[in-house]
Amino acid sequence: MKMISKSRILSLIFALLFGFQAFAEKTNLERVEPPFWWAGMASTELQLMVYGQNISETTPVLTYNGVSIRQVIHVESPNYLFIDIEFDANVKPGHFSIQFMDDKKVKASYDYELKPRKKDACEFKGFDNSDVIYLLMPDRFSNGDPSNDNIPDMLEKADRNKPNGRHGGDIQGIIDHLDYFNDLGVTALWINPLLENNMETYSYHGYAMTDFYKVDPRFGSNADYAELVEKAHEKGLKIIMDMVFNHCGTGYYWKDDLPMKDWYNQWPEFTRSNYRGGVVTDPHQSEYDYNKMVKGWFDVTMADLNQENKLLANFIIQNSIWWIEYVGLDGIRQDTYPYPYQDFMSQWMERVLLEYPNYNVVGEVWLSYPQAVAYWMQNERNKDGKQSGLTNVFDFPLMYAISKAFNEDEGWASGTAQLYEVLSQDYVYEEPLDLVVFADNHDGDRLYTKLKEDINSFKMSMAYLLTTRGIPQLYYGTELLMTGEEHKGHGYIREDFPGGWPGDPMNAFTPEGRSEEQNEAFNFLQSLLQWRKTSQAVQFGKLTHFVPEEGVYVYFRHTDKEAVMILINNSEEEKTIDLDRFNERLAGYTSCTHVLSGNKIKLGKSIVVPEKSPMVLQLHP
Ligand code: CA
Repeated sequence: MKMISKSRILSLIFALLFGFQAFAEKTNLERVEPPFWWAGMASTELQLMVYGQNISETTPVLTYNGVSIRQVIHVESPNYLFIDIEFDANVKPGHFSIQFMDDKKVKASYDYELKPRKKDACEFKGFDNSDVIYLLMPDRFSNGDPSNDNIPDMLEKADRNKPNGRHGGDIQGIIDHLDYFNDLGVTALWINPLLENNMETYSYHGYAMTDFYKVDPRFGSNADYAELVEKAHEKGLKIIMDMVFNHCGTGYYWKDDLPMKDWYNQWPEFTRSNYRGGVVTDPHQSEYDYNKMVKGWFDVTMADLNQENKLLANFIIQNSIWWIEYVGLDGIRQDTYPYPYQDFMSQWMERVLLEYPNYNVVGEVWLSYPQAVAYWMQNERNKDGKQSGLTNVFDFPLMYAISKAFNEDEGWASGTAQLYEVLSQDYVYEEPLDLVVFADNHDGDRLYTKLKEDINSFKMSMAYLLTTRGIPQLYYGTELLMTGEEHKGHGYIREDFPGGWPGDPMNAFTPEGRSEEQNEAFNFLQSLLQWRKTSQAVQFGKLTHFVPEEGVYVYFRHTDKEAVMILINNSEEEKTIDLDRFNERLAGYTSCTHVLSGNKIKLGKSIVVPEKSPMVLQLHP
């Protein structure tokens, strides 16, 4: 038994006689968010959301040079306070105490820090056409720390036998393989959401967030995330964060105590979104369809956030800026872009670009027509006068075309003609180079499955993806010819990266652990990716293409100083291509280097392209 000292007994008596009442009246301050901020941000306003039992009965006060409380907002729940803080433009970094007073007594206090900024706002450069983005799902990529697979007070435990369960992948697993990304030749990682998803089942994917300010402990800590970004930067890799503003997980701590009822879009009974993104911009839209689209819930586990509530809007906007600044993010991928209120999203983009003028956000606008996608990208031409302000959008129309083109016989409107047709509509975009182009992602059939597991089709589609206009995005495992059909369940298109777990029978991070066919695919991609880093023409150059003839699609990427010719023979026969047709682009060039083989040849009257294969030629004067 532990001895209790005399002084301890005395203090207990003292507490019982005098202190207990004061202790009981102390308010338990559970959250202040954002938990800290920075001095010298472009906006001089900050709105704190404070959560604690009956906190609204207190009055917050603070004393710090250059910081003042402008307004305190009370809401329906007595357990919240929103504090509008104003900074002087030249406020200095430091700490101040926010004291929550009631009748001259301090009921609670919070040490608030204004950190110094590590980087100038303009140094947040975003991503651009020199990048190739690699999308990975953290639960499925690599388990670098098996000790965090199960966390006692978190609902779902790891079980690798369940396709839709948690498998234990984490941030450490990504840190452990930074050299793999450089070896492959990608330059930026888009990581599916890392924030807490404390839901009973199906929580591995990360899209039902239960704490916007906290990395899921099964992935690591906030500090681990910051470390990942720092180490990635040391190796020249960028990190793009996956953010979700449309909804949050129904397990969020605030579920039973919302600040106000309209924090969520409420329905008398569960009402699902109609997922009809086109309704938002439809000039003939009905109110019924619009409400379902924007206010309907994404899923029973995903509560629809009401961004028309100004306090919620501020909460989300500040949260995104907090993450950019805190871990030093290089970009954002925004989920389900047309689902939240349109004006709110524009307001958010304005605020991000106010803080970081050179920043990038790529939005998921899952619509299959170029004009529908163009509406959501920075666009001065929208007839309704609205502008999303979004810098980049995923090119879903081209994804669909790539998925079909290399599976079909060549024809007037089939095969590579589909690629031609999609790009011929680029007039709808202010800047088609800003599109993020991809062949597969975490939501659909894997590319190799769509290509009926044909390695030649794989090579043609990858050569196309990496040389057409736009910023290419690859999906983890595509380089290993991983397969998977979405209709079987999302778990099947998000299988574990082989070798990512201790004791895996195969380690596909190394050539020895890959099959012969996987090495063929990996090496093909690696050659293209490493070369792409050196070619300004393929990254930023103009695209000139020719209508496919006889099953061969030919296009050029060119700048004043450099030109690349790409020929894709999607037919079943070897083709001899007469080069006269391309005089407008070939004039002045006498030879070329095959990018994939390194062979140099003289340019003659014609060129032979083997069946079902791409040819990438660097032209020389
Ligand atoms: Ca783990």
